[in-house]
Amino acid sequence: MAQDKMKAIIDQAEQDLLHTYNRYQIVLDRGEGSYLYDVNGKKYLDFMAGIAVFAFGYKHKKFNDAVKAQLDKIVHTSNYFYNEPSARAAHRIKEISGMDRVFFTNSGAEAVEGALKAAIKYAYLKDGRTDHQIIAMEHSFHGRTYGALSVTGNAHYREPFGAMPCEVQFADINDTDSVKALLNDRTAAIIVEPVQGEGGLIPAEESFLRDLRAICDEKDILLIFDEIQCGMGRTGSMFAWQKFGIKPDIMTTAKALGCGIPVGAFLMTEKVGTHSLVAGDHGTTYGGNPLAAAAINAVLDIYEEDHIVDNVNAVAPYLTEKLEALAAKYSCITERRGRGLMQGLVFDRPVGPIILEAMDNGLILINAGAQIIRFVPPLNISRDQIDEMAAILDAAISKVTA
Ligand SMILES: *Cc1c(COP(=O)(O)O)cnc(C)c1O
Repeated sequence: MAQDKMKAIIDQAEQDLLHTYNRYQIVLDRGEGSYLYDVNGKKYLDFMAGIAVFAFGYKHKKFNDAVKAQLDKIVHTSNYFYNEPSARAAHRIKEISGMDRVFFTNSGAEAVEGALKAAIKYAYLKDGRTDHQIIAMEHSFHGRTYGALSVTGNAHYREPFGAMPCEVQFADINDTDSVKALLNDRTAAIIVEPVQGEGGLIPAEESFLRDLRAICDEKDILLIFDEIQCGMGRTGSMFAWQKFGIKPDIMTTAKALGCGIPVGAFLMTEKVGTHSLVAGDHGTTYGGNPLAAAAINAVLDIYEEDHIVDNVNAVAPYLTEKLEALAAKYSCITERRGRGLMQGLVFDRPVGPIILEAMDNGLILINAGAQIIRFVPPLNISRDQIDEMAAILDAAISKVTA
């Protein structure tokens, strides 16, 4: 009977929604801490966290109370006016990032769009050209809108959509020479994820980021870090670049910034802020509205009070240890990689069947490409929950590969 309810919802959705996602055949209903429940009441340990969105799991009282309070006060104004939550959120984001200027968006892709526009405008003000290029990385992921897609290093995602709004060339991450080979008079910016997410949990090496910084300084072109997935503490520092102190000119954030309320931002240094976008160049109806900003403020309060980043540093080595143990046990696992609570296990085969088996047994995981299982749990995950995950995954691998 209950199974019928789930199936009815799925069947209806399949008739009405555009078929752009291959969804798991589960209808999620509610969440609490690091656990999710489907409409039949089945419980799942969540190591996907809405794709690296939930930093402190579901139903955090302080977060929910803050959002509800703002909902009853005012949800939206317009960017023709100021509002206190967004003024406060902007100031706090500057404090945690060390950047100087903030523009709020509704999503990650929209933050990337703005970052690209700011970089192109900076270059235009410098040399007056209108044919600038951007250098991005192979296997990068920056979002699905046209501008973000243009810098996404996956030809399969771009191919059907023809000419891209930005002329983009792709270098290889951690290969400085491949970047240098693409530099020319038209290069406006280099965009990179300090840890590639969708592309396979590949960290940029400190020396590579340092080389990019030096190239950009020498040529007066802009370095853009996409911190949408790897930022907000996930790799053990508030933003991944802060581990090395290699500061970008522009950076993007989203995902955990709103912990479920759709929000993002692109940030820049004062130099870029005063030499790029001006009134009339860019805008958004919802971006940084009071509800979204209240969510950001609550998120930042909880990061401080619950010591979220400290927990990442405390438990990440344990996750590494557990994943290394699985890699040692199963020859079908060829590598563990990633950083902090953003890790992956690389298999010699498609991981879909393993993920489905784990899901059957109450564990939600996500892949990154066909052969990698990605681990992006809530940042307040406990050692016990890492044990629980590892036990279910171990059984799933053993069953599927038997
Ligand atoms: C998820 C993601 C995006 C896109 O964010 P959306 O909110 O889905 O538009 C961009 N860059 C990176 C690195 C991401 O992980």
